[in-house]
Amino acid sequence: MNSTEANLVGDVTPQLRVIARADHAISRKNISNGALRVLYRLNEAGYAAFLVGGAVRDLLLGGHPKDFDVATNATPEQIRSLFRNCRLIGRRFRLAHVVFGREIVEVATFRGSSDDGSGDRHVVDGRIVRDNVYGTIEEDAVRRDFTVNALYYDIADFSVRDYVGGMRDLEQRTMRLIGDPELRYREDPVRMLRAARLAAKLGFSIAPEAAAPFAQLAPLLRDAAPARLFDETLKLFLAGHGLAGFRTLEAHGLLAEVFPSTVLGLAGPHGAVFRRLLEATLHSTDERVRADKGVTPAFLFAALLWQPVCDEVQRLIAHGVDATSAWVQASDQVMRAQVERVAIPRRFGFAIEDIWALQPRFEQRVRKRVFRLLAHPRFRAAYDFLLLRAEADPALAELAQWWTEAQSVDQAALAERLTTAAPPPAATAATADAPRRKKRRRGGRRKGARDASAGDPGGQTGAGE
Ligand code: ATP
Ligand code: MG
Repeated sequence: MNSTEANLVGDVTPQLRVIARADHAISRKNISNGALRVLYRLNEAGYAAFLVGGAVRDLLLGGHPKDFDVATNATPEQIRSLFRNCRLIGRRFRLAHVVFGREIVEVATFRGSSDDGSGDRHVVDGRIVRDNVYGTIEEDAVRRDFTVNALYYDIADFSVRDYVGGMRDLEQRTMRLIGDPELRYREDPVRMLRAARLAAKLGFSIAPEAAAPFAQLAPLLRDAAPARLFDETLKLFLAGHGLAGFRTLEAHGLLAEVFPSTVLGLAGPHGAVFRRLLEATLHSTDERVRADKGVTPAFLFAALLWQPVCDEVQRLIAHGVDATSAWVQASDQVMRAQVERVAIPRRFGFAIEDIWALQPRFEQRVRKRVFRLLAHPRFRAAYDFLLLRAEADPALAELAQWWTEAQSVDQAALAERLTTAAPPPAATAATADAPRRKKRRRGGRRKGARDASAGDPGGQTGAGE
């Protein structure tokens, strides 16, 4: 490797500031037992051992982190020899996972910023694709992304070590990159999303010089691995700060790179209703996370891509495609375009398509169809989605109310109601032309139903798919 690759962070000179135990708010009470055991064990064995990253940041802010990362000068093999309950993982970054029941403590060896050739770092077009060069704590600090993510809690004396001004930025509630922002984003474009996500989560602002390159560099996100963007998307939208994350992403022009069709939908003629749907979905998701209720990616993606699907359905129908085929083709096409950016695992894909496919069926309030829909394995998720659509679009309020009541009355009363007066179909721009589904063969369910029959309805009501 040559020397330009070696000094990846540019000219960052780490300057140590030690914040003594008495001068910061981190208490061991708020650190998990697993993390404490790992820290003490490493320390007793003569290694340096620090809590680092998001956990230190969140503890200093008074939060209660769920994950605890440890950094040490012990190598992965040395870590493994200390812990029975340890496995080494990762290719891009080699890490040790120490397992305590349900808790996993991630233990990483300090990573170097210079490569003398003995290590294992691989850079392609300025991007790090493999990084197993071990180094000092100073080097480890400067290769982290944001200053507030580079604080180290030392188990030896309970002090916090700050090498890059993270404490100041924490006090000023600012996301600031370590080193030259453009260089750091080119190294790893996902850092742009992390800036927006963490700013939203913490209620921080993004330092002007850290936000300035977005306009020019956001397109680099197109080359980010779709699987990694899926993980990042979940952290963005399903970790309790989804609405704030969405707004930050949009305000900084990053949403268009990750969900291009969503941004087009927001700019289109139904943009205002679509925006209300997204806000209602993200708001309800945030509430569910806060209440420790399950959330699933399927519901989120169904909402993010709803207007694109509706627009495509309308376009196909205008070209003479029948409504049923239009829904199938539109779902397929919108999903296919989206997974080029963000990998959506197939099981979620099935659930998303079912949630969509059931929406026009809510408008067909005739006896046989109503009972069939009520019995559909994905009914609950689709109904929850209808409620959110109705929140965004008053024209759907009557329809949503009807289905709410349909579930509360007994079957005989419902049958009675359906024979006496069939209410008029609710017309919305997107679903005015409700498709008639072809009669299914007995037992010949759509692919999605197979997924749902595993017991999870796939909607907001279905926890942890
Ligand atoms: P969260 O609250 O979402 O867990 P986090 O900062 O802990 O936020 P993680 O993805 O858990 O995020 O990463 C742990 C730490 O690893 C970060 O705090 C940061 O120091 C470092 N890190 C993570 N991703 C990157 C990256 N892309 N580039 C440089 N450093 C990173
Ligand atoms: Mg973390």
